[in-house]
Amino acid sequence: MAENTKASGFRIGIGYDIHTLVEGRPLTLGGITIPFGKGLLGHSDGDALLHAIADAMLGAAGLGDIGSHFPDTDPKYRGADSAQLLKLVVELLSKNGWRVVNVDSNIIAERPKMSAHFGEMRGRIASILGVGADRIGVKARTSEGIGAIGRNSAISTHAVVLIEPAG
Ligand code: MG
Repeated sequence: MAENTKASGFRIGIGYDIHTLVEGRPLTLGGITIPFGKGLLGHSDGDALLHAIADAMLGAAGLGDIGSHFPDTDPKYRGADSAQLLKLVVELLSKNGWRVVNVDSNIIAERPKMSAHFGEMRGRIASILGVGADRIGVKARTSEGIGAIGRNSAISTHAVVLIEPAG
């Protein structure tokens, strides 16, 4: 039976990511560069926050995940700007008749202190998604010294995204 899956309106998606922190790379997170002695290792620029948001958007729309759209085995995405990947996800959702209502997210990082960067991150993410910054939540926690994140060897991220039919 054909089902109009958009009849019910809102859909929600969840995203998670974790990247290793290493010396000698810029720290790119939430679409901005943060001054710090280490950066996130990755095939792309390693922006774990934008990856979690992209995954949540794709999941909400039933369109798979970023690994299926931008495989890390594809040399095309080596060093990729995750903001550009997120823009492609916005376009993909738009083609499928969806737009973002709001995003909420958490960064789990021992260091650096993230709160000074929330405003800039929210503005950047909002501009990529084409929504107001009041629709973007960015929060942060430490790992209380526990595990790889607590040792400052990794940063993880969580995101939830609500989408609705466009137009
Ligand atoms: Mg990632």
